[in-house]
Amino acid sequence: MDNEKNEDSRVLDIVSLYPNDMNIYGDTGNVKTMELRARLYGYEPRIHAYNVGDAWPEHVDLILGGGGQDKGQAVISEDLFAHADILHTLAEEGVPMLLICGMYQLFGEYFETVEGQRLPGINVLNVHTVGQDTRMIGNLVETTAECGAIVGYENHSGQTIVNSNETQPWAEVHAEGTGNNGTDYTEGARKYNVIGTYMHGSVLPKNPQLADFLLKKAAEHRYGTFEPRSSAQQLAQLEKLNALAKAAFEVASK
Ligand code: GLN
Repeated sequence: MDNEKNEDSRVLDIVSLYPNDMNIYGDTGNVKTMELRARLYGYEPRIHAYNVGDAWPEHVDLILGGGGQDKGQAVISEDLFAHADILHTLAEEGVPMLLICGMYQLFGEYFETVEGQRLPGINVLNVHTVGQDTRMIGNLVETTAECGAIVGYENHSGQTIVNSNETQPWAEVHAEGTGNNGTDYTEGARKYNVIGTYMHGSVLPKNPQLADFLLKKAAEHRYGTFEPRSSAQQLAQLEKLNALAKAAFEVASK
């Protein structure tokens, strides 16, 4: 059945990108959060775990990619490259994507490890990253134009530089943390609805406004509009989740 033609359809196809190799510091929590929040807004999320060599899903409304160590990045890089064209097309169509740390780096021009091994990226985001001996580790508190203040945790050796005006930094870091490179106070990058960020955490349970931003873009991609349909019970559950996130935010940003 073609869901786009079925007026009652509320399906959203969510791709979890390379969960076998790219999933550290709890990044799977992002997939769980999107699945839960989509349901609470009355949508029917369909989660597709895409790993190296799998068949690419027929419909894609949202892509979530976790971080990974340098060796995980090396494992997926060839397969990711083979899907560069489709990912560029989806990005240009406005499909939202949230790419954490190691995946963010591979959506840029390249990632060069501390040992000097250069992994080519797919260049959806105009950024490049070079590994340094000193890792950037700790809590990260940032301000975004789109979703206000966001909290999370970073752990990376790569220093990222945003290269062109077509790609904008995603956030500014002033309160706590290092961000892209520790020198220009930027964190992450955004082009179209593709967001690359160093925010582990997992970031989405702690920052529901970012989850809802992605959900809205995913629904708009599939159906043209975002139309929440929540029961009173679902609204109460959303409020509870938002209150928990607010409490986590207050602890992290103290
Ligand atoms: N391997 C990359 C780095 O250390 C990414 C790490 C991560 O995803 N946390 O820069």
